[in-house]
Amino acid sequence: MSNNHRKQHLISPYEVAVSQLKKAAKIMNLEKDYFEILKKPARVLTVNFPVNMDDGSIKVFTGYRVHHNDARGPSKGGIRYSPYVSLEEVMALSMWMTWKTAVVGLPFGGAKGGVCCDPSKMSEKELCRLTRRFTYAILNMIGPERDIPAPDVNTNPDTMAKIMDTYSMIKGYSIPEVVTGKPIQLGGSRGRLEATGRGVYFSVLEALKYKKMSLKNCTVAIQGFGNVGSNFARIMYENGAKIVAISDMWGGIRNDSGIDIPKLIEYVKNNKKVVDFPNSSPISNKDILELNVDILAPCAIENQITEDNAHNISAKIIAEGANGPTTPEADKILFSEGVFLIPDILCNAGGVTVSYLEWVQGLERFSWSETEVNRKLERVMVQAFNEVLSKYHSLNKICDMRTAAHILAIQKVVEATKLRGIFP
Ligand code: GLU
Repeated sequence: MSNNHRKQHLISPYEVAVSQLKKAAKIMNLEKDYFEILKKPARVLTVNFPVNMDDGSIKVFTGYRVHHNDARGPSKGGIRYSPYVSLEEVMALSMWMTWKTAVVGLPFGGAKGGVCCDPSKMSEKELCRLTRRFTYAILNMIGPERDIPAPDVNTNPDTMAKIMDTYSMIKGYSIPEVVTGKPIQLGGSRGRLEATGRGVYFSVLEALKYKKMSLKNCTVAIQGFGNVGSNFARIMYENGAKIVAISDMWGGIRNDSGIDIPKLIEYVKNNKKVVDFPNSSPISNKDILELNVDILAPCAIENQITEDNAHNISAKIIAEGANGPTTPEADKILFSEGVFLIPDILCNAGGVTVSYLEWVQGLERFSWSETEVNRKLERVMVQAFNEVLSKYHSLNKICDMRTAAHILAIQKVVEATKLRGIFP
């Protein structure tokens, strides 16, 4: 691990999340009691569970499922598999889910889960056994009316299929609504796979409108080429933007006259990485963030834009496809330098929005066309963006878009908590 990489994992995402909450609470004069309620997750489960490995050994894995808040509805959020998963990280991600569902107005609370493992070093069969045993271990936390998992870093529709099957087997009947982001054949929604990337695209369109910039020939750098980064890249490319650099965890590529995204997607299918793509020169994951482009989209992991590199950012717009890519110290720098940032809880909310549509379609046993899903997604994203933007203006730009989004979300959660009252 490089020093830079190690440092990124030393910044606690939970401390970042609490510091964002504090900043918003101060500006909105949030009562101390409600701050205390929102600061800590409502429910935390840590599980240690054994999995049979292909070589005959047994390995014990640690996983988490955290419900941050369910004042506005069932808890909702993805499950990630990564060697860097920690309780602190999952706690932060669950809090961000509470704000994300509130900011786009979905009737959900916030949750997140994760298993500390390295999927790149595990076989498909091992991952399948891990998913099933983890599902069993968190069984009492999840359910279609309680907490609905979805894909996140290193998990996908197939992972959701295995969770759905394990849950259904134990309950004794099929319950597809226990997860979203399932394969379409199992009741998944059309448009869900690319929904996060498409949502980032819709937010970028609104930001460009606000900044009086046009998408045509707009230059873009994207960090991360997983589900979010690759779909965002493809949709931007199809609509005339010029993607000049892309990176993944193994390195990056650059071409100032524009990368052919459909070809890159084909290339990555075979080679698993973007590096060495024909007609491109290499660029590091660090340098990609500092390129002189119109739009920078961090679509990978937390703590990428920090006080160390924020001063070097040249992009006019930052679109946070990832959760938590920017630290509070970096936020201050970007704000003072006039970079327009679309915060994660707004920018990447397209995924959970179509998850909501999938959940509704499942509960009602019907399905919408892809066009219908995309239309609904666009409406939600455009409305949420403009609500955050007017909050930002109404605060006379004394804070950034992130804090405006947090204030909006916190108001909604507090309002729901007050209406419900404190039990008993
Ligand atoms: N993992 C995604 C996120 O961070 C999607 C969550 C969901 O659909 O529940 O927003």
